[in-house]
Amino acid sequence: MSAIELYARASVGFDERVAHAVAVLESAAAEHAGRIVQATSLGAEDMVITDLIARHGLPITVATLQTGALHDQTTALIPRIETRYGIEVEVFKPVEESVVHFVQKNGERAMYESIELRKACCATRKLEPLARMLAGAGAWITGLRREQSDTRAVVPFSEPDDKGRIKFNPLADWSWADVWHYIAAHDVPYNPLHDEFMPSIGCAPCTRAIAVGEPFRAGRWWWEDEKAKECGLHVKDTAVSTVSAIGAPR
Ligand code: SF4
Repeated sequence: MSAIELYARASVGFDERVAHAVAVLESAAAEHAGRIVQATSLGAEDMVITDLIARHGLPITVATLQTGALHDQTTALIPRIETRYGIEVEVFKPVEESVVHFVQKNGERAMYESIELRKACCATRKLEPLARMLAGAGAWITGLRREQSDTRAVVPFSEPDDKGRIKFNPLADWSWADVWHYIAAHDVPYNPLHDEFMPSIGCAPCTRAIAVGEPFRAGRWWWEDEKAKECGLHVKDTAVSTVSAIGAPR
């Protein structure tokens, strides 16, 4: 059964939520002309946002992180986006020497050994290239939704990040059914791993399929406590400070 068959449902207010997401994107693009980036994870929500950006011709740069540990199916979405929408996806990679050094020192499976090592891996492979992606940007766009986890239950449509930029979350009030209804209605390309019970997809070593009834993000860093389950991209101060405190690159 495909993710569309499993999840896509039309619901009351869907058209209004789409219109509101477009309004958020239009206003963000106007306010931050030339200095706004969609930081796409290539997940289902972000594919919807990229479709909205392209469909409405919004001047928003689309960029992603290639951590070096993604599934092939995830990486394959980059040329699919470029072909489908005729836009360039900017790809940011970690500093190769930093990754080599981290793996030599801590091993390929370091992320399973402690939260500190897992966060240090995320700092090397994600936070440092994200910082380069957002250097010079006044705003960025994410696919965060309130429904994704308890720690995201109060996600606003826009908020300042800890670097003084504005982070826009245009799908904050969308349900998972909305996301898939939009994907089905507009034939949006998506990661085939979503068809294999992976609603939230990150790096391959840190993503597994979920079972019926498990929470949305249960397949991410499943060996950790629920509250620790962020990579630092969307956590202010504490996680980044933790990363900094253990000497990882920023
Ligand atoms: S998600 Fe896993 S593999 Fe990817 S950067 Fe974080 S710890 Fe490393």
